[in-house]
Amino acid sequence: MPQPTAPTPTSEQLFDRANQVIPGGVNSPVRAFGSVGGTPVFMESAQGPYLTDADGNEYVDLICSWGPMILGHRHPAVVDAVQRALAKGTSFGTATEGEIALAEEITGRIGPVEKVRLVTSGTEATMSAIRLARGFTGRTKIVKFAGCYHGHVDALLVAAGSGLATFGLPDTPGVTGAQAGDTLVLPYNDLAAVERVFAERGSEIACVITEAAPGNMGAVPPLPGFNAGLKELAHRHGALYISDEVMTGFRASRTGWVGVDGVAPDLLTFGKVMGGGFPAAAFGGRADVMALLAPAGPVYQAGTLAGNPLATAAGLATLRECTDAVYDRLNDVADTIGTGVSKALSDAGVVHQLQYSGTMFSVFFADAPVTDYDAVKATEAFRYRAFFHSMLSQGVYLPPSPFEAWFVSASHDDRAVDRVLAALPAAARAAASATP
Ligand code: PLP
Repeated sequence: MPQPTAPTPTSEQLFDRANQVIPGGVNSPVRAFGSVGGTPVFMESAQGPYLTDADGNEYVDLICSWGPMILGHRHPAVVDAVQRALAKGTSFGTATEGEIALAEEITGRIGPVEKVRLVTSGTEATMSAIRLARGFTGRTKIVKFAGCYHGHVDALLVAAGSGLATFGLPDTPGVTGAQAGDTLVLPYNDLAAVERVFAERGSEIACVITEAAPGNMGAVPPLPGFNAGLKELAHRHGALYISDEVMTGFRASRTGWVGVDGVAPDLLTFGKVMGGGFPAAAFGGRADVMALLAPAGPVYQAGTLAGNPLATAAGLATLRECTDAVYDRLNDVADTIGTGVSKALSDAGVVHQLQYSGTMFSVFFADAPVTDYDAVKATEAFRYRAFFHSMLSQGVYLPPSPFEAWFVSASHDDRAVDRVLAALPAAARAAASATP
């Protein structure tokens, strides 16, 4: 395969064409290379750990579609399941057995999920979980943390990390004061702040929502006891504890982050891996809370394509292939690449922190561990631009933002990992000589 030449001429042409008809030329902001500069690369196909762009250049993929492709691209079991589902029809708008099988797989893996509802995006999952928490408690306020992203739900689009951090939009036009006003935003990893807000307004708070182990401000894991403390404080004040496992679910471990920290949430949200690369997501949890959901209960929630047969087949096939061996490989690959990144940067004299949220990881150009969003914003993010473009030109596709986590798959074999390792020294030197 040819190595990429930057800029890629076909991607340039496609981006020009896209800009005529699609705002900013992309259908999700972080794809636009806003924080790293340059023309976004248009991909045409993928196989295992590799992406191939519209000019035929091959890249080792360290985004994995922002999480879903945990088995790598075009895994045979997933392709086969989708082809068999496709042969039967693409959407019925009725109940199907595949939805039960996927719900059983999720509830069977994750103890705190007694009942689960399938939806089509992580945004819908968190939006619905919050509506349900408000319906259950009869309260209006929600607590979220700066730097945690939960999709583009109006009420949650406040201090929401990643895409917003990338584009320097602390708030977005279109979200009204009323929608944002019921959201109390606190610094991440600061239990004392949570305690204070509950002491002042506990009787108004419906729920605390947090990323189980954040990846949307880069990987900033919860400090020991943070999630347990959230649950304890929420329960003491009659509120629910919602863990957003859209990224970590079925990725941090076979049972997601719950399997890592053992703190059972009242409600959980899922997406990404459980859709096998198709639009599928879910929320679930305590049976008594989920019982309030329509048509069993009064809290309305619905979806024309919810439980879509192709998405359900892909998700089920993916989860069934996610064996202990898959998680062992993810951990090995994340560890090997992370260690390589750290060594290359140290060799080049670049001060940095390598941080993991489960098997997701990222590098911060900082001299001390980064534990909240203020610390993320204070890092030398300008170095990432040079690092990113050096890696890209050597055939490694990293997240095009310093505020996003890196994702690996079980298909990242030694050849793919070695290609990443070989590219690191030059990228580290580029980061070392970068200027703000
Ligand atoms: N929650 C988390 C933790 C996420 O990382 C994301 C997306 O990246 C979402 C929710 C929203 O999911 P979606 O993009 O499918 O709407």
